[in-house]
Amino acid sequence: MLSKKKALSMIDIIDEMFPDAECELIHDNPFELTIAVLLSAQCTDNTVNKVTKTLFQKYHTPEDYLAVSLEELQNDIRSIGLYRNKAKNIQKLCQSLIDKFNGEVPSQHEQLVSLAGVGQKTANVVMSVAFGEPALAVDTHVERVSKRLGICRWKDNVTEVERRLTSIIPKSRWTKSHHQLIFFGRYHCLAKKPKCDVCPLLPDCREGQKRYRASQRLSGGNAS
Ligand code: SF4
Repeated sequence: MLSKKKALSMIDIIDEMFPDAECELIHDNPFELTIAVLLSAQCTDNTVNKVTKTLFQKYHTPEDYLAVSLEELQNDIRSIGLYRNKAKNIQKLCQSLIDKFNGEVPSQHEQLVSLAGVGQKTANVVMSVAFGEPALAVDTHVERVSKRLGICRWKDNVTEVERRLTSIIPKSRWTKSHHQLIFFGRYHCLAKKPKCDVCPLLPDCREGQKRYRASQRLSGGNAS
């Protein structure tokens, strides 16, 4: 695993590559963001944005989501993967918002994770994006990139990845780095075809070096 100093220097390069990275889920308030993050599990932000464009015109409050049948809500989000479970979770979330927080999305981590359907990642995204609280959510991109680079160990779970990243990155940069790592994973270090050949991190990246050596062997080169 990389030293913290080396790891931070890599985060700095990603910072330079994606200075304007930000949340790509379209929303107007903390409640809409929470619904969008909940819908985004195992689904692209683009797909979520297409659905929420009409969804957020129809539903404005937790009460609105509870005023329709589960089947109707499922139908409204059916183009999204896992829509049956997600519709159930949305209604459970709305009920707990009404029961515990007067229908408002809370800003504190402990309160957010107490809501039905809200886990660590969703809570961190809502805290940082909606309320400007420092938090570093670990999604599939953040986890993959951190492991490929050697910032974290392959065997680390998301909690360990979050702990490692927040021990390396200054707190004032957690939110920005979260978006930058997502952009890096989404547009550069892609899951299936990472752009190693044009990556400024290649010299120090364990995954990139492994792929480079494999490509050299395939092409009959003599990289060692
Ligand atoms: Fe990702 Fe390849 Fe860059 Fe490593 S060298 S960070 S695997 S794109």
